[in-house]
This record gives sequence, C-alpha cells and structure tokens, in this order.
Amino acid sequence: MKKDYYEVLGIKKNANETEIKKAYRKKAVQNHPDKNPGDKASEERFKEAAEAYEVLSNTDKKAKYDRFGHAAFENGGGGGAGFGGMNMDDIFSQFGDIFGGHFGGGGFGGGFGGSRQVRVKGSNLRIRVKLELKDILNGVDKKVKVKRLVRAKGVTYKTCDTCDGQGSVTRITNTILGRMQTSAACPSCHGSGEIVDHRPQGANAQGLISKEETIEINIPPGVTDGVQLKVSGKGNEAPGNGITGDIHVIIQEVTHDKLKREGSNLHYDLYVSFPEAALGSSREIDTLTGKVRIKIEEGTQSGKILRLRGKGLESLDRYGKGDLMVHINVWTPKKLSKEQKEFFNKNKKDQNFAPNPSNSDKSFFEKVKDMFS
Ligand SMILES: [Zn+2]
Repeated sequence: MKKDYYEVLGIKKNANETEIKKAYRKKAVQNHPDKNPGDKASEERFKEAAEAYEVLSNTDKKAKYDRFGHAAFENGGGGGAGFGGMNMDDIFSQFGDIFGGHFGGGGFGGGFGGSRQVRVKGSNLRIRVKLELKDILNGVDKKVKVKRLVRAKGVTYKTCDTCDGQGSVTRITNTILGRMQTSAACPSCHGSGEIVDHRPQGANAQGLISKEETIEINIPPGVTDGVQLKVSGKGNEAPGNGITGDIHVIIQEVTHDKLKREGSNLHYDLYVSFPEAALGSSREIDTLTGKVRIKIEEGTQSGKILRLRGKGLESLDRYGKGDLMVHINVWTPKKLSKEQKEFFNKNKKDQNFAPNPSNSDKSFFEKVKDMFS
C-alpha cells in the first residue's frame, strides 16, 4: 500500500506552496544518500519524498491527487505516466527549483555514479499576458506563442576537456600570504562539464536554436494587474544535461469600459433619469456573468449604492467572491421645454421637492465607510 503524499512530507492537507517546498527540502536533506551511504531505507524515503513533492508542487497533479488519490497516476487513471520511472536524475532536476540551481555543486557531490557537476539551468523567459475581466473572473487557459531556445536536432555533447567534466577549475596562485587555491566555474563549459560535440547548422555555440512554440498557461481566477506567475520548465532549454528554465508570466489587466475594479469588488456607474428616480423603475445592467435586472425604488436618491453580493471577482488571498456595487447617479436635465419649466416653477416651493434627508439617506462618506466595513 502506497503511503499518502501528505504523510510522506509530514504536512497538512491545506499546506501552501511554501510549506510544501520547505517540508520537501527538509526530507531531502535528511535522507540524502550522500549523508546516509548504503542506507537503503533512507534512499527509499528520499525517493518517496521526491515523488510526493513532484505531485504536490504541481497545481494540476495536486488537484488530481486530492480527488483520486494514487489512482490518479496509475495506468489509465487519467493522470498520464506513472512514477515508476522517476530516477535520480529526475529527482535532481527538481532541485534546481528547490535549492536554487546549485545543489549538485554544493555539499552533496558524488553518490550517484560518479561526481556531479553544477546542473546548468536554461534562462527564464518573461512574457506578458493581457486579460479581460471575464477571464480573471473564472481563470483561463491561455495559449501563448513563445520563442524559446531548444536543443537543436542532432546536437551531441561531450565531456569538457578544460575541466575534465568537473565544471570548475582550480587555480593555485602565490600571494604574500602563501599559496592560495581558488575554484571557479570552468570558462569553457560554464560549469556544466559538457561542451558541444556535434553542432548542427543554425545552432548557437551551446547547440541551441530558437523555436516558436505555443504553450498553454493555466491562469487561476482573481489575478491582479502586475502579478507574476511561474510556469516551470517551459523557458529556454540548457545545453547538455542541464535543466530547462521557467517562464515568468506577467499579468496585464485590460480596463473594462463599464466596470471598475477595486480588489475583488467591482463598481458600476448607473445613470437614471429624474422621473425614473422619482417614480421608480427597473434597469438592466451588464455584469461579468451576464445581464442583471435591478430595481430602482420609488424616491431613489443620487449616490445610492446597490450592492450585488458575489457578483465581483474571486479574491486571491481570502475565500469568497467580491461584490458589484452599482452607484446610482440621478441625471438632472440640462435643457427643459417651456412646459417642463412651468412644471418645475410651479413645484419649486412644494414640500415634496424640498430636500429632507433621513437616516436611511446616508451621506457619501457614511456610505464609503459602510462599503469597507
Ligand atoms: Zn569545463
């Protein structure tokens, strides 16, 4: 019976991304085979943790696992390939994310079939994605064309002669303090330990070519302008056995012509005529989920705010949806006919036309205060 992934990492079901990463980092360091040579049980735990992290750190896979458990990744379970094939190389490729790309070169040399170089990571790409409010409402899978560097077809790599595959070179210099030994990234292979052997036509010095690809970006609901999302492993590829970089997606919100956004709330300015406000009426307004008919009560004051609960946007940091505030503006006619002027002149002194605000006709400042409480 396979162990629960949350149990493997020792975290709660509602653990966030940072907690998952932290828990995995702890387990990986604890059970790293370099620290426990020959200890099969800790190697097993090391692999288990890597597998759990592989799933729980990926929004898609995590959602599948939360729904279907391990069955999600068994053959035909809808989750694609199983994890039987996850080898040490796969595990190490995760470490770029977790330990900042220099894990292999740090305190954990050797252990897995010889020495390990710094795994070079391909550079990250930055793209901007424009989103309409309706995309932000529900979240959206956006297909975007990106130009990325990929390993050219037919390219081969060989061990770097300069550093003999070590990725770093050691220099001994004589100083007044004595002989000093310094270690630096190899200038020929930039730390990867490999250089291009066969370079196909059109490829750059690292054996990479630029290729246009369409990638799908999974955008969650409620994102805000300027937010950055990371798509792991879709950036530029690295030469040799390096790890692929990431794509950083910067969200740009397209301004809506009617709805103004303020966090998860939306605001709508509705103009009604004086007769509509005085006699009462009903009006249809556009919301992000379609048209909604709202009632204008008899005797509605200008500045009144109608709050449509849950008609706003998803909030990224707290549960639930925001509201849509409809701001009523009573339109005062700018031009009147002779008869209309007569009508108003006749009623100028009438009690019904005299302003007489009651407690329920709150001032603008009180309304604003209410809105944020
Ligand atoms: Zn080298």
